[in-house]
Amino acid sequence: MSTIETNLQVVRTRIAAAACSAGRKPGDITLLAVSKTFAAGEVRAAYAAGQREFGENYVQEAVEKIAALAALPLIWHFIGPIQSNKTRAIAEHFDWVHSVAREKIALRLAEARPPELGPLDVCLQVNVSGETSRSGVAADAVPPLAEAVRSLPRLRLRGLMAIPEPSDDIESQRRRFRGLRLLLEQLNAAGFGLDTLSMGMSQDLEAAVMEGATIVRVGTAIFGERAKA
Ligand SMILES: *Cc1c(COP(=O)(O)O)cnc(C)c1O
Repeated sequence: MSTIETNLQVVRTRIAAAACSAGRKPGDITLLAVSKTFAAGEVRAAYAAGQREFGENYVQEAVEKIAALAALPLIWHFIGPIQSNKTRAIAEHFDWVHSVAREKIALRLAEARPPELGPLDVCLQVNVSGETSRSGVAADAVPPLAEAVRSLPRLRLRGLMAIPEPSDDIESQRRRFRGLRLLLEQLNAAGFGLDTLSMGMSQDLEAAVMEGATIVRVGTAIFGERAKA
């Protein structure tokens, strides 16, 4: 078995164990393999081990990888910070975007989404732990942004995403993820009908699954350590 295949099995087992302990079905959680900085060959190895959904942070790198792997039935998620001059490439090459935090960016994505591709699935990135170093919309600004994004053509608002500050303490991890879930519940109480909570990474996916994550984004635990930029 390849290392990537072994790692994928370990991660799937972690997700299943956390789901079971929370009384959830493992099948209700999608594993997103974050392949940023890794080559098309490594994505191919993950595909051979059954992985279908991949996350990327850097547009140029991702577009080349997506082109190299066009023959495979993969689903691509953009999860990195979005510069306005990259919205067209994102709208043309990705199935999902998790990191929308400004109305202007949503507008540009909507304008650039080719109609023949169907709607672009969108999550709003929320700043849940008051972190200043991370992008994301403040919790109290989420409802008006959700309202604006919902009204845009060619985008389909699916839910919320967060990258809390890392913590070794599972209780504080859970508290931050719970904040995101409560925000989603608040939007759904107002009729949004959202189904996606994108939260949890290699270090904290158990806490995220226990708090209701429907997509966990895992890089290091699948592909290994990334080279430092
Ligand atoms: C890199 C990245 C991940 C994966 O992080 P790991 O700790 O390697 O699992 C998940 N989400 C986002 C937004 C990322 O940028």
